[in-house]
Amino acid sequence: MTHILVTNDDGVSAPGLLALAFEMQKVGEVTVLAPDRNWSASGHVKTMHRPLRVKEVQLVDGLSAYASDGAPSDCVALALLGLTGEKFDLVVSGINPNANIGHDVTYSGTVTAAMEAVIGGVPGVAVSLDAPENHLGVLDYGAAARFARKIVETLLSQGFPEKTIININVPYLPEGEIKGVQITRQGLRLYRDRLDRREDPRGRPYYWIGGDAPTGVQEDGTDFGAIKAGYVSVTPLRLDLTAYQVLESLDLWEW
Ligand code: MN
Repeated sequence: MTHILVTNDDGVSAPGLLALAFEMQKVGEVTVLAPDRNWSASGHVKTMHRPLRVKEVQLVDGLSAYASDGAPSDCVALALLGLTGEKFDLVVSGINPNANIGHDVTYSGTVTAAMEAVIGGVPGVAVSLDAPENHLGVLDYGAAARFARKIVETLLSQGFPEKTIININVPYLPEGEIKGVQITRQGLRLYRDRLDRREDPRGRPYYWIGGDAPTGVQEDGTDFGAIKAGYVSVTPLRLDLTAYQVLESLDLWEW
């Protein structure tokens, strides 16, 4: 039986994790090990200068889970290194409430958890929902969870590509309005960050990196293009960041 580690970067009590674990239980045996707090946009972390603690917790539907005070990638490392004594065939991370497209993948705890899986020799899948940044109230993760399950089932039956992270982004639409799945490349995010300088009560400055929610370049064949056109985006990512197009020309220079 396929043994699946489910984790996330929003914390063990996040509703997206529960929706994902629920669907993954239809695919195989599920173990949940996730951070005990929100690590969104924490990047790829390896905690080396303090000990890590793990405790058992109960999720709202009665599912038992492990919560760690480490980062998402720490949770994956702990599990793959044998914390629970189990072997894992697959790591699935999410469901993040906001999309992880383009350069987001370098910030994303959701995606870097899947990266850690691939480093550990296990296929890694990241799942994110493109919910509006200003969304109020409860998000519906149902459609995203079901698409994630179908995509994972296809990958398991076809065989996961080696050393590849599968980055899934789902548009925030009613399930019937989602047009299908598109295989995509990374697109381009447009960040609209702005430095906010404020003063504390003692007159000393402090800073927020604020600004408006990012947008992106809506181009066909990209992750951002797909979700904006109403498709679920599936992007194969690799950890090799070498700029192959530049390699040969740089090698011709006199060093
Ligand atoms: Mn998050």
